[in-house]
Amino acid sequence: MKKILKIFALVIVLVVAGVLSYTYISFNSYNPADPEVEVDQSKLVYFQDSYVNSRTAFQLHAEKLHQKFDSVQVFSRQVPGKNDADLTIDFCYIPAQKEQKKLLILTSGAHGVEGYVGSAVQQLFMNEILQPELLDEVGALLVHSMNPYGFKYTRRVTENNIDFNRNCDTNKSLFSSENTGYNDLYGMLNPKGKVNSGSLRNRFFMLVAINKLLQESMASLRQAILQGQYEHSKGLYFGGDNFEPQLALLAKVFKKTSENYETVFNIDLHTGYGERATLHLFPNPIDDEKVKSTLGNMLEGYKIDWGDSDDFYTINGSFTDFIGKILPNKLYLPMVFEYGTLNSSTTVGSVKSLHNMILENQGAQFGYKSVKDSVKVKATLMEMYNPSSEKWRTKIMIDSKEMLEQVMINFGKL
Ligand SMILES: [Zn+2]
Repeated sequence: MKKILKIFALVIVLVVAGVLSYTYISFNSYNPADPEVEVDQSKLVYFQDSYVNSRTAFQLHAEKLHQKFDSVQVFSRQVPGKNDADLTIDFCYIPAQKEQKKLLILTSGAHGVEGYVGSAVQQLFMNEILQPELLDEVGALLVHSMNPYGFKYTRRVTENNIDFNRNCDTNKSLFSSENTGYNDLYGMLNPKGKVNSGSLRNRFFMLVAINKLLQESMASLRQAILQGQYEHSKGLYFGGDNFEPQLALLAKVFKKTSENYETVFNIDLHTGYGERATLHLFPNPIDDEKVKSTLGNMLEGYKIDWGDSDDFYTINGSFTDFIGKILPNKLYLPMVFEYGTLNSSTTVGSVKSLHNMILENQGAQFGYKSVKDSVKVKATLMEMYNPSSEKWRTKIMIDSKEMLEQVMINFGKL
């Protein structure tokens, strides 16, 4: 009997050790595979290595459009920074050439560090897609880097630690929104003290997450974490206690530019969500059937994530919804493009993504134990939102070109 108990105990120990090693290895060496595509150098030129260089490239492409179109307007607005007077949002507006009926607003960098990819897509759009025959009745407004601080300093949030895509509304009641689910997870999401990326808790973060998953479903955890919160100014996904200054500035430009158009279509460019190297169509939920069917027709052949899958979550203070609110008398079509990087639709991918965000925010609030920790955490964040892989970059640029061409043709036909 004693012997059986001994064997039983040994088996348990081995199983636990096996599970622990598997979790440890799969989490700490997580590296989702790239798509099988041939690298195309002509698509890589749109990626720059800093905010300033991306902005310059955007401006150069915008200036070049003067050769193709009449009355192109290229302009800039400064966003106030505490210690930086060189933070700007840059615009390029090409009016419809014959009759102003429909306006496309293509925006990037609501989440600062995602601006690298957003800028690249905008440059491709200006250089390879915008052709005079597409703009008879369609105007295009490109908005570069809506959160220049985050772009320049490799953060997703603004200088005030605000997630700009949770900060957009016409009514300040947004800031009284409650998120009780978030409060239950506060400790896990916002650890205190300097970041030590090699600590036991960080190495075994997967187990911390699994423990939460055993208590709640992935869908409800994702919703609680991602919808935004308005209580903890140093916490993750803080939507603010006031509007960020660029919101009023953007509203003014959108109202003026769209004045003569009947229909406005916004595509807001993001990275980090979904299957790696895949372009996901991911609008915040839409109730209006006409808007839904119009979007469905324009994007025929592509899957739109309307909010019926398990991966889905809704957000408060969304930027695309905001444009609809300030233009109530127009047909308004909101869309979000999300370029996947870490397979966040899988459990390990979403836990990894969340862990990267937690460490980066902890570092911004409390600092790092060592320079090595700081370099590692920041490089991981950059890789999550702006993958260095040439295959990844080639694939998403090819897909963007194909989709944006179709969208422009179909938008023109509306
Ligand atoms: Zn984003």
